[in-house]
Amino acid sequence: MSQKAKRYLIIRCEKCGKLTLAHSNSASRTCPSCGHRQRVLANPPIASSESPEEVRKILGLLKSADQRASRNKDLRKAI
Ligand SMILES: [Zn+2]
Repeated sequence: MSQKAKRYLIIRCEKCGKLTLAHSNSASRTCPSCGHRQRVLANPPIASSESPEEVRKILGLLKSADQRASRNKDLRKAI
């Protein structure tokens, strides 16, 4: 099996749950939020793309969806 073009992956930190970008050719990624080091290949990406612009757009959408979800959770707790 030969390595295809480099892809940009969106992975979720297995420790703190924050979304982060990783490159498909890097073996590990340190979470910018909690510093947890995880193996990129061991963590299935939520999304991937060959275009850095596209993957950033997807990351932005996922992050705002995450924020909405946590706001909803807070609302439910308040009720
Ligand atoms: Zn983390």
